[in-house]
Amino acid sequence: MQKRDDPLSKLISVVLRVVTFGGQSHYMTSYVTTLGQGVYVPTSWERMGDAERYIVLRHEAVHLRQFRRLGWVGMALLYTLPFLPLGLAYGRARLEWEAFAETLRATAEVHGFAAAARPELHARITRQFTSGAYGFMWPFPHVIRRWIARELSAMERGLESPPG
Ligand SMILES: [Zn+2]
Repeated sequence: MQKRDDPLSKLISVVLRVVTFGGQSHYMTSYVTTLGQGVYVPTSWERMGDAERYIVLRHEAVHLRQFRRLGWVGMALLYTLPFLPLGLAYGRARLEWEAFAETLRATAEVHGFAAAARPELHARITRQFTSGAYGFMWPFPHVIRRWIARELSAMERGLESPPG
């Protein structure tokens, strides 16, 4: 569903803009969001290619599974509370990390491992955690870079020993 046709998405957009002091002002235009069992797409969705959409949807599929696992209430609490809604949101950081690890894996599957290992992609992912985009959820770039490095080496090990 398009965010621009959804009243809840519009409300979230306004709230985010205010609470992040303008740090998240692209919610309607650039960010895909999963709420419950719905995936809400921004205006930029129409300009995205199939490969890019596929990678984004792999990320959102992780959030769909999280909503199923934790429920709306569990998801809302974990996403907003531990430890703070802004600045230090470890619950949100871990939920997002689970999904961004999938972003790395999907990128490798679509574009090859080298694409998933690109520093530009790592910088973009790290920024999501440290900037206002997700309310400065885990503003420690070295921690995010360590999570990324760990995931990449797990992926590399997976490449060396194929399943079966
Ligand atoms: Zn996400």
